[in-house]
Amino acid sequence: MTKETLESFAAKFVRESPYNYVSAEEALSPDMAGLRIYDEPIWGYADAHDPLFHELQKKGVVGPQFMLPEQWLPSARSVISFFLPFSDEVKKSNYEPGEKASTQWLHARIEGQRMVMMLCKFVSEALRAEGCECLTPCGDSRFRMVAEPRPELTGDWAGASYTSNWSERHVAYVSGLGTFALSKGMITEKGIAGRFGSVIVSCDFEPKVREYTGVYDYCIRCGACVKRCPVGAISLETGKNHAICSALLAKTHMKDAPYYGCGKCQTKVPCESRNPLRQKAQA
Ligand code: SF4
Ligand code: SF4
Repeated sequence: MTKETLESFAAKFVRESPYNYVSAEEALSPDMAGLRIYDEPIWGYADAHDPLFHELQKKGVVGPQFMLPEQWLPSARSVISFFLPFSDEVKKSNYEPGEKASTQWLHARIEGQRMVMMLCKFVSEALRAEGCECLTPCGDSRFRMVAEPRPELTGDWAGASYTSNWSERHVAYVSGLGTFALSKGMITEKGIAGRFGSVIVSCDFEPKVREYTGVYDYCIRCGACVKRCPVGAISLETGKNHAICSALLAKTHMKDAPYYGCGKCQTKVPCESRNPLRQKAQA
């Protein structure tokens, strides 16, 4: 299957899947029923043996606990990474300042993650039908993540915090989808507000050319996310403080469980829906 065919099938799936819409049964309020979560995805591709994956195993990048594509799937040849941008309705709903995320944003975080997994499943089934082996790390029993530092962690996980053994954002970087933001999200050509997913496959796809050399190339350091953060978790000097951000998310979870979220740093900012570097260059 060509990239074009896969992307076209997947775009149709995203447009039509009931999982891309909040159902009446799940809606947190009646007006949420029918909310469309995502626009169509954009795609990145990497050689599963790209040396950059080894770089991710370094301390200070993802860390030694990061598992290489071939450690997840021994027959790995390519990695497919996608970004699902949130719909305008989801993004605009979260423009209000303060600690309270919009109800649309909460849905996009929870039901939105389910849709990410459904798209991974769709891609895997389409490729398996052609004899390609596929594995979704975030849906695999070996997938593991840690939040705050835990002294009992040893070996590759010693000292690990706010990390995992497969980082969608770092994989998106390797796959040519974009670069990191001051707020530690990923800025793509469709912006930062959305979610990432990936599938490791045993078939060959031409890697996407990375149109950047630095890990923060697309962030224009405008400071808008610093001002938007309601708890001061982002600074132009020191970047993002994960512990402060995580504490706010935990607070929202206590109130709205199983829902939680914030996303103020991803909305009403120049990188929300586009690559601000290109906009700056055109100005
Ligand atoms: S709002 Fe500005 S500083 Fe913050 S991540 Fe986006 S481009 Fe970078
Ligand atoms: S850094 Fe965290 S707390 Fe601050 S705006 Fe972003 S998501 Fe919210």
